[in-house]
Amino acid sequence: MKPILSNNYFVNFNEDAYLKLNAYLASNKTSKIFILVDENTNQYCLPTLLESLETTSEIEIIEIESGEENKNLDTCTGVWHALTELGADRKSLLINLGGGVITDLGGFVASCFKRGIKFINIPTTLLSMVDASVGGKTGVDLGVLKNQIGLFSDPEMVLIDPRYLETVTEREIRSGLAEIIKYGLTYDVKLWNKIRKFNKLSISNISTLIHRSIEIKNEVVTEDPKEHGLRKILNYGHTLGHAIESYFLESENKEKLTHGEAIAIGMITEAFLSEKQLNFPADKLASIKNKLLEIYGITTIEPDDYTAIIELLIHDKKNVSGQVNFVLLSDFEKFKFDCNVNKSLLIEALDYYNK
Ligand code: NAD
Repeated sequence: MKPILSNNYFVNFNEDAYLKLNAYLASNKTSKIFILVDENTNQYCLPTLLESLETTSEIEIIEIESGEENKNLDTCTGVWHALTELGADRKSLLINLGGGVITDLGGFVASCFKRGIKFINIPTTLLSMVDASVGGKTGVDLGVLKNQIGLFSDPEMVLIDPRYLETVTEREIRSGLAEIIKYGLTYDVKLWNKIRKFNKLSISNISTLIHRSIEIKNEVVTEDPKEHGLRKILNYGHTLGHAIESYFLESENKEKLTHGEAIAIGMITEAFLSEKQLNFPADKLASIKNKLLEIYGITTIEPDDYTAIIELLIHDKKNVSGQVNFVLLSDFEKFKFDCNVNKSLLIEALDYYNK
């Protein structure tokens, strides 16, 4: 599979990626290699990586606890201490082996340690392969505020090996698929049409979408690295989606949704807003709703939940001067940024999802 060139690094695939990684290690005078894992990637992914690594440099493993709740500055401090105690210097390399929590946190840790050491991302979930590990955003949460502390910083390379997906749960795979669907609806409808035709979701058919998805994320972020325009399409489905995700996370009597499950609801409701505000075709709206409900099932959102969800929208990090801004579609691949939506239409959108 052809490597993808991002800003000044490559995303490499499969066997070729390990060859490139080993060539990089041979040609760069790395003093020590640190591999950042959580307990799951330590168990399921590290053996595969170690088998393929060829290097004379010393290797140290640093493990953190999995989970978004650990993506914070306390964990970073722990990793910085570990790096210091294990003798890391400015020529050390950090390899982030894990999902988006590891690549976001590890990229941030490396970029701040001794004013920046080099790092490589090896994403091991679908979401981190097609989204988190590419685009240069690194960072951690501050209390409940997601990704509040961070910086743009590029890895030396990204290595994609879909074999890591074999131990990821089906629910986490579906979560990552939501981002691929978003690329399909906003940027490349061929991707969406392929997903619509899948009778069954399997690692082997989803793996065929990974390369194109990374190409899209890369095209978008290299054209608009700091989110002044095009990059905003990556927020499609995420405005209502994030509010719904937070609401379910905070409510004691609701089961937590995965990111992708919430974004799927966001994509359905924002397609409805698109039909109302930009004449997005009704048959396409129906096809989005049908396919997403088939993949993700229906989540009950009670009318009593609406006010709290709409309140959360107002706190969205992307808002400017208190205005909630949506990315809406006038057709597949045709989008408009900074669309304002009034409260009664938001309620109609949630009703449409529930119907
Ligand atoms: P995650 O990193 O929490 O991984 C999900 C779970 O899967 C964890 O329990 C992890 O231990 C486990 N896991 C990882 N790889 C595994 C494997 N191969 N086998 C078995 N278990 C495995 O979550 P995620 O969904 O990968 O990423 C979510 C994070 O990504 C969020 O923090 C989000 O903010 C971030 N993100 C960042 C960007 C960006 O541009 N930087 C984009 C999207 C999302």
